[in-house]
Amino acid sequence: MDRDILDTNEHIEDEESSLRPSSFDEYVGQHDLKENLRVFVGAAKMRDETLDHVLFYGPPGLGKTTMSMIIANEMGTHIKITTGPSIEKTGDLVALLTSLEPGDVLFIDEIHRLNKVVEEILYPAMEDFCVDVMIGKDATTRSVRIDLPPFTLVGATTRAGDISAPLRDRFGIVAKLDYYKDEELRDIISRTSKVYGMTMEEEAKMELARRSRGTPRIANRLFRRVRDFAQFYGDEIITKDRTMQALDRLKVDNLGLDDVDHKYLLGIINRFQGGPVGLEALAASIGEERMTLEDVYEPYLLQKGLIKRTSRGRIATDLAYRHFHITREN
Ligand code: ADP
Repeated sequence: MDRDILDTNEHIEDEESSLRPSSFDEYVGQHDLKENLRVFVGAAKMRDETLDHVLFYGPPGLGKTTMSMIIANEMGTHIKITTGPSIEKTGDLVALLTSLEPGDVLFIDEIHRLNKVVEEILYPAMEDFCVDVMIGKDATTRSVRIDLPPFTLVGATTRAGDISAPLRDRFGIVAKLDYYKDEELRDIISRTSKVYGMTMEEEAKMELARRSRGTPRIANRLFRRVRDFAQFYGDEIITKDRTMQALDRLKVDNLGLDDVDHKYLLGIINRFQGGPVGLEALAASIGEERMTLEDVYEPYLLQKGLIKRTSRGRIATDLAYRHFHITREN
């Protein structure tokens, strides 16, 4: 599979690319989504057509980019990768679209951040595989239609709600990625330790899985840090004790919560009497970006039942109080 990284963090990309599974069979978890995609890809290939456009949504690090690469791989085509905010002008998008080969996958991460003018170019591109561009100046300006090769657009977003209806409606396949089960993360960690040539106790894998917030990217990142500890102390294999020690040192608690989660929850509990508190006020009081809290932190806290979102703001649940051994006062 050819990959053309147009705009991404190269360092992370290098480390991650060696860990990315490249087929449906190697991709752990997201069972229903994977099996459905297997059918859609298989059927498109039987008809010798391109796959319908796909929109993936869900928190970061759950495997949206990876799945898009697998789609291209399984379709036997190439993928071009870009992000919504990096396509500034319509010309950028037109250049990208016209550089595609028939059947290619165009992956746009953070597609909710495309600007409106650029987004409108996508509509006819997705629907009719053509774009209208304006050429000439002033009185001589005219619109010219350019035909595009048939392609599959795969969009990814952490905020499905921010995608405009006309754009969303043009995706034939819309799928949500969920947090992974501990056993699935354990399997991903198993694979990662093999890639790095390390042996890890089964219990150590499970401990790391439980503390990875249901997220493969975090599991892989924490694995690398645990490996640092093990190698530094001369361990032959990664044990559960070493894993726990490393994670404690990294301030990742037994639910996988990190410093920011702690600030968030303790902020609600200590400064706002458990809530409700508006996200804006909470973000300001703990010095974090509202968007980051909303996209990255809250989905997991909600899923774990540590907070609730109400019309009046965020509330810390009894479970959150128990997690910190704090007694609720009111
Ligand atoms: P997203 O695009 O949703 O932010 P990525 O696809 O970049 O997430 O995945 C982040 C990392 O997690 C990658 O290094 C990838 O190898 C790993 N990963 C994600 N999903 C899986 C999976 N289902 N099985 C194995 N590894 C995965």
